[in-house]
Amino acid sequence: MKTVSILGATGSVGTSTLDIVERHPDLYRVAALTAANNVNALADAAVRTRASLAVVADDTRYAELKERLAGSDCRVASGPEGLREAAAGEADWVMAAIVGCAGLEPVMAAVSAGKTVALANKEALVTAGALMTDAASRSGGIILPVDSEHNAIFQCLGTRNCETVRRLVLTASGGPFRTWSAVAMADATPKQAVAHPNWSMGAKISIDSATMMNKGLELIEAHHLFGLPSDRIDVMVHPQSVIHSMVEFIDGSILAQMGSPDMRIPIAHTLAYPARVESGAERLDLIRFGQLTFEEPDEARFPALRLAREALEAGGNAAIVLNAANEVAVAAFLAGRISFGEIAKMAEEALASRPNTSPASIEDVIAIDAVARRQAQTNLEGAAA
Ligand code: NDP
Repeated sequence: MKTVSILGATGSVGTSTLDIVERHPDLYRVAALTAANNVNALADAAVRTRASLAVVADDTRYAELKERLAGSDCRVASGPEGLREAAAGEADWVMAAIVGCAGLEPVMAAVSAGKTVALANKEALVTAGALMTDAASRSGGIILPVDSEHNAIFQCLGTRNCETVRRLVLTASGGPFRTWSAVAMADATPKQAVAHPNWSMGAKISIDSATMMNKGLELIEAHHLFGLPSDRIDVMVHPQSVIHSMVEFIDGSILAQMGSPDMRIPIAHTLAYPARVESGAERLDLIRFGQLTFEEPDEARFPALRLAREALEAGGNAAIVLNAANEVAVAAFLAGRISFGEIAKMAEEALASRPNTSPASIEDVIAIDAVARRQAQTNLEGAAA
């Protein structure tokens, strides 16, 4: 019996993880579940799964969660200390599914405690990739990629050495605006931008998919997970989202991983790894698709992709600054404060004006992230005034 904790249990990836765990009560026992402030969904899941710990990140919701779980065997905690306990406590396997850089400290706590970490929270790896992989080597922790593209590459690589790899190919659906002109896209609404054609996801990653910043962050993520340089990681638009990514080897062979666009497939892979379990996902019917198509990404209409590659190649603090500015810009877009076209502009401005520093510790990453967020907020307020 594997003991599992889910950080971000009330989100899109978190609830998909709970769905698989609850299908297999004979295989998995829930240790800790966390949320930012959705006390109702957190308490319901904790009662259903008989979790031993429920953590709400927002301290002001502690009393409410405590009341909701009164009479159950589930302990209640809150704030950063509670998140750390959920990450580094009794679980063998930890799902990292908090959205944004807010997940960085709990992920590092789990990795440093030597856990097997199923990593969905790409922003944590984008901002602190080298520090995280170093921490895993020191602690014996294992990072298993949940992002469908990286999970696909991980499956294609198997036990093969990356020296036999010519390049990695990350596939991208192209998002809801794949065929839109730059002019039409500039004024797209949040409702149009979150309407992903193939995947059902949380709001932030859905906007990132629409700008293609998501693919840019995945490029940086792939570099940290698989150790290949930027010029050996390509992006290909594949609108059907059937092939989740590919690996081209030096002998010319290309291996691809396919499946329905359902996050329960990569999540189940990391949960059972190296075994397999039933995920509940719909089986892939290739005949229904008939054709699979591929296109070159258009970096003129989707500048976020180019910006992320530039940040990866620049190193130092570039990816942290890019990610922070993007998180602030996406929140501002969702709140109706800026247009869709301004998201990438804010990220570009932040990259161009950043001081050149390099983080040597997680504390440095958090400090660089905080300064970049403040700067992006100031720029926003300046533009609105
Ligand atoms: P959601 O927005 O659906 O869920 C986010 C989860 O994190 C919720 O449980 C939320 O709690 C919690 N959370 C949010 N902010 C904080 C915070 N400051 N402190 C602690 N907890 C917090 O996100 P997704 O599930 O879509 O994405 C999660 C991560 O996985 C992201 O990094 C995303 O890029 C990545 N990912 C997602 C995929 C998907 O299909 N959704 C695919 C591949 C990767 P609450 O509900 O209380 O707000």
